[in-house]
Amino acid sequence: MRETVNVNLPGRGYDVVIGPDLLAEAGAYLSPMLARKKVAVISDANVAALHLETLRAGLAATGIEMAAMTLPPGEATKSWEQLNICCDWLLDQKVERRDLVIAFGGGVVGDLVGFAAAILRRGVRFVQIPTSLLAQVDSSVGGKTGINAAQGKNLIGAFHQPSLVLADTAVLGTLTPRDFLAGYGEVVKYGLLGDATFFDWLERQGPALAAGDGAARVEAVRRSVQMKADIVMRDETEQGDRALLNLGHTFCHSLEAATGYSDRLLHGEGVAIGCALAFELSARLGLCSQEDPSRVRAHLKAMGMKTDLSDIAGDLPDAEGLLGLMGQDKKVVDGQLRFILARGIGTAFVTGDVPRDAVLGVLRDGLAAR
Ligand code: NAD
Repeated sequence: MRETVNVNLPGRGYDVVIGPDLLAEAGAYLSPMLARKKVAVISDANVAALHLETLRAGLAATGIEMAAMTLPPGEATKSWEQLNICCDWLLDQKVERRDLVIAFGGGVVGDLVGFAAAILRRGVRFVQIPTSLLAQVDSSVGGKTGINAAQGKNLIGAFHQPSLVLADTAVLGTLTPRDFLAGYGEVVKYGLLGDATFFDWLERQGPALAAGDGAARVEAVRRSVQMKADIVMRDETEQGDRALLNLGHTFCHSLEAATGYSDRLLHGEGVAIGCALAFELSARLGLCSQEDPSRVRAHLKAMGMKTDLSDIAGDLPDAEGLLGLMGQDKKVVDGQLRFILARGIGTAFVTGDVPRDAVLGVLRDGLAAR
């Protein structure tokens, strides 16, 4: 079972290959791309402990030698300090522009290592081997790379497209249920933003997918990646349509800032809550029916996911405070907050025209329910 989605960007197109047990075949996919049979792999300690030897064997099968280094797991790794460590190590490995760097891990590793590849020797090629559901359906595709700053998430980075993405759906089996469901937040986002039939499918197949159904996982990753690829091909550098992928993210980034980017709230959990809030806001503005936010929340709840502000443990700032935290978001244009709202499930659009009071109202009511 192999699916391939092509990201057809002029001069820098690439395939996203999706299916189980791809690590074992990594050498066959990479060999034709290599000038010399050696690659530099950067992973995190969790992923390395579970899967690095399988990747090593997969590469060795076609005679590719692998040098590997591991980073501490977690969002805090997307930092200047770890970027420095990565670049130093890659230079020590004498990685040249014709070589391949491999990002082997979740979105944290993919974003950081992609950025290191973007700036090393003014840009070396890299391959994404995403291992979390979030990374397979979202962060490994589209070329956004970067690190976090004290002022906010992802504020330092570059567009740098990978040369290949290998999404081995079998490795999803070792994710904790919480990390799996956080990634599922991004999967639901695709249905909500642009494909109502996909959302219908998720309502039916979501439980089987979470329980480990391999075919359902491949199909969910394929449809998500196809939708992301289509949007990235229309708007690689987010001048327009690509912002649709940020459905739920204006709320999410404020909640992540409020919870200190800690494991109180994982990114994908924030996206799920953010999508529910975006639909609530859309309904209050009369853009979609009152039933739509209820349907979104019902599906998230049925999957056992965080859905409401009340599902976030510990203190949160008040509504004004949360709104203030949206100010650093990259989705602010000329000081105006941009939101992704919806006219219904599967029909999202970008707008800068959202009354501040409506946002405050949604936040106040959500906080009052805590
Ligand atoms: P992550 O990389 O921290 O991975 C989550 C956890 O799962 C980590 O502890 C990791 O070690 C572990 N893990 C990963 N794969 C595993 C596996 N197969 N088995 C067991 N454990 C595994 O986080 P994430 O959720 O993958 O990604 C979140 C990051 O992605 C955020 O920094 C976010 O900003 C970024 N992101 C980037 C984009 C983009 O377009 N570049 C899009 C969405 C999100």
